[in-house]
Amino acid sequence: ARKFFVGGNWKCNGTAEEVKKIVNTLNEAQVPSQDVVEVVVSPPYVFLPLVKSILRPDFHVAAQNCWVKKGGAFTGEVSAEMLVNLDIPWVILGHSERRALLNESNEFVGDKVAYALAQGLKVIACVGETLEQREAGSTMDVVAAQTKAIADRVSNWSNVVIAYEPVWAIGTGKVASPAQAQEVHDELRKWLAKNVSADVAATTRIIYGGSVNGGNCKELGGQADVDGFLVGGASLKPEFIDIIKAAE
Ligand code: 13P
Repeated sequence: ARKFFVGGNWKCNGTAEEVKKIVNTLNEAQVPSQDVVEVVVSPPYVFLPLVKSILRPDFHVAAQNCWVKKGGAFTGEVSAEMLVNLDIPWVILGHSERRALLNESNEFVGDKVAYALAQGLKVIACVGETLEQREAGSTMDVVAAQTKAIADRVSNWSNVVIAYEPVWAIGTGKVASPAQAQEVHDELRKWLAKNVSADVAATTRIIYGGSVNGGNCKELGGQADVDGFLVGGASLKPEFIDIIKAAE
């Protein structure tokens, strides 16, 4: 069985004081054990060491990005090696905000995923279509192309979690219906079975992201192919604890 996975993507939010407050709330929460749910929070780079040092040991941290290859003369970037050096276990790659605002192509994201995995990081790889693409009926083509760019470069999928995040559902309050999420997760798993392997399809967690909250998480999480969530806005609030509990 695939262990339920709940990630909190804090994006570019928070002060040191706010970050400490969020962590304190998480540290006091009663949640299902690590055998039932894997919880990962992703603060901005500058807060990673702070969060790692005060966060309860059964929760883990993720960076929100890293450089595509070995570090060097790349001003403003943070390398995968640096994350490994600081014992940061996870990294989010290919988030739609970076794809759209920073022009990250499928190939570039695929290169990043492969490089980060090779350094020993675990990767939350994000895919998802825009509203325009959904309305044009190309959702699965888009998601398949994004996934293929990763599959072309990666052979060991054991440290990969795929986050399906329809762009139209991110930060909009317009959550995908459980049926809409399940449909894409199911097709994505079939794509993996056909193009990677039956084993990778059966074992890789596919999590949903886009306007997940305490009210909609239970029904979404109950879908056969929804293995957890990547949460934005609600991960900054105590509500995140209710979302973690949806694992039960
Ligand atoms: P929201 O939960 O704020 O819609 O953001 C989702 C997301 O982008 C998580 O990576």
